[in-house]
Amino acid sequence: MTSKQSAHQRPGRILVVEDQPDIQALIAAILRPDGHQVTFANDGEAGVQMAQRDPPDVILLDLMMPKLHGYQVLQALRSHPATQRVAIVVVSAKAYASDQRKALEMGASAFLQKPFEAKALRALVRQQLDKAVLTFWGARGSIAAPGPETVRYGGNTPCVSLSYRGVQIVLDAGTGIRPLGVSLQAAACGKPFEVNLLITHTHWDHIQGFPFFTPAFVPGNRVNVFGPHSTEKPLEKVLRGQMDHEYFPVALGDMAATITVRDVAMDPFQVGPFTVRATYMNHPGMTLGYRLEAEGLIVAYATDTEPFRALLPTVKSGENVAAFARSQDQELIDLVRDADVYIADAQYSPEEYAKKTGWGHTNYVDAVTIAIEANVKRLVLFSHDPMHGDTQIDQKLAHCRALVAAAGKSIEVIAAAESVPLEILAR
Ligand SMILES: [Zn+2]
Repeated sequence: MTSKQSAHQRPGRILVVEDQPDIQALIAAILRPDGHQVTFANDGEAGVQMAQRDPPDVILLDLMMPKLHGYQVLQALRSHPATQRVAIVVVSAKAYASDQRKALEMGASAFLQKPFEAKALRALVRQQLDKAVLTFWGARGSIAAPGPETVRYGGNTPCVSLSYRGVQIVLDAGTGIRPLGVSLQAAACGKPFEVNLLITHTHWDHIQGFPFFTPAFVPGNRVNVFGPHSTEKPLEKVLRGQMDHEYFPVALGDMAATITVRDVAMDPFQVGPFTVRATYMNHPGMTLGYRLEAEGLIVAYATDTEPFRALLPTVKSGENVAAFARSQDQELIDLVRDADVYIADAQYSPEEYAKKTGWGHTNYVDAVTIAIEANVKRLVLFSHDPMHGDTQIDQKLAHCRALVAAAGKSIEVIAAAESVPLEILAR
């Protein structure tokens, strides 16, 4: 057995919401030998109560049940903060495509048709336990931009959560970290937990939500913060500064969780199963991009940067400038190389970038070029301009997809939208 295979054997807590005793027995017989802890709810109502009291890792949900049917259960679980993000596999005899589609639209993670083979059930449960989930809680660059124009993609500033095998990683602490904190705290159901926060830099839009991150106020929780030493101060001092009494009523030291703040050096470091590597971005002040790698899974978060090859020729002329700029850009390409997901600064259109060269953000055509050069699988357009409404982001997305198609590549391009989870399945 390889180390990768053994890593995939993590047992899970499985709640089966199913009224038929023979199917309950069958599921238990298939899953218990793998080490999973399997519990049962005999009807929809009991399923909702049990799941919300103590959220399991995976819920197997029947559709045709007494008291509450499966769609009602799905709706109740997805609208409750404790179970909003729990993996739910609908297991049903219903074979209509429209029923299956509806379950997925209502938030089911997968659909398994009854009767099922043991192998299929085991594989699906394993897939749900081993998948990584990225959720965007804020995708807006520079300043929060709520309002009717930004409802679909959202107005909160950068915050992305990555959850994998029970480890919680948070990328940046923009205003989006406030709803993330509420969600994490609810899902924990009163149990203490640990969260790892990686900050790229300390411009307001990347740290302003931290004082509103409720898990940091709860005794017993651990919040491990990583980020760059600023031009003159350690990260801890900058975070403390934004909570100085002139700016905020509670001091950093008064937050009740155990909080550690560590300056990131350029050596790779370990966060749970992830090896994290940082590279400097081309952005005013000291700004980092991160590459997180675990068991063949690669996520690159490289926002708030602009290509040297776009900026340098505007400030310096000479025959070596272009070649030098390309060599500097290589570091970013190396950081995101072969990533399953590359979360990229894609703030401006090319026309806007022509006017805002040197502001520290990228035009989306360059983001596509970098994604192609680095051979990534998925490109997420991120750091949306606060001046862009949903329609403009739709247009940006269409444009980037067309560029990828024209290049003959199969990179999937997505525009980051708040609360829309992105699953990365284990290879
Ligand atoms: Zn910035």
